Amino acid sequence: MPFHATLLTLYPEMFPGPLGVSLAGRALERGDWRLETFNIREHGEGRHRLVDDTPAGGSPGMVLRADVLASAIDAAVPEGDARPRLLMSPRGRPLTQGFVRELAAGEGVVVVCGRFEGVDERVIEGRGLLEVSIGDYILSGGEMAALVLLDAAVRLLPGVMGNALSGEAESFEGGLLEHPHYTRPSVWEGREIPAVLRSGDHGAVARWRRAEAERLTRERRPDLLLPRR
Ligand code: SAH
Repeated sequence: MPFHATLLTLYPEMFPGPLGVSLAGRALERGDWRLETFNIREHGEGRHRLVDDTPAGGSPGMVLRADVLASAIDAAVPEGDARPRLLMSPRGRPLTQGFVRELAAGEGVVVVCGRFEGVDERVIEGRGLLEVSIGDYILSGGEMAALVLLDAAVRLLPGVMGNALSGEAESFEGGLLEHPHYTRPSVWEGREIPAVLRSGDHGAVARWRRAEAERLTRERRPDLLLPRR
């Protein structure tokens, strides 16, 4: 069974969006992964299909209703479906390459895209949603965050990346940022490709790349070098 992504959103027209082109898009056409969208609006209340209401306790903005969202989830996700149910949320578990790898190794994901001020807390508990954040900033909705998560996961699926090896030295995979890259021409605007990369000495190249990766990580992301809590 290919990796199966089920999206719940008020804006299904945002999918596949950028995931319909390039590597992810071709993999989708080949059936290497599946994408299914459900419109939360269809479970809205009344003639106007209302999905949100004002926050209990008062404050500006609106909140996605628990009953509406739960009914959308129940319609989209069959009973016994073992895929993790994610809710995109700035309060969530940070999305990291390790977490993406875990998700990509599974059967797929159910992804709920929030809107407004967020969703009623009770549906998070009641439907066992795991909140996931793509970074410390606020988006207007969970759709872009879901696209980011899926893009990162899909490229790891078997057969999706043209050159399987190119995934290996990448930033974060070895706990370090990646070394710099160069390609022809060998001199550009007076800047040369480092001599070691043209030496043909594979051992020296590997040592240089490692040293550069360590230097960049120390300079830019010293937090990555700290032991994991
Ligand atoms: N009031 C909320 C933010 C709501 S933003 C708060 O302060 O925490 C509206 C929706 O966008 C959220 O429900 C969530 O689904 C999505 N979203 C916003 N920022 C996000 C982020 N950094 N990561 C993942 N999803 C995000």
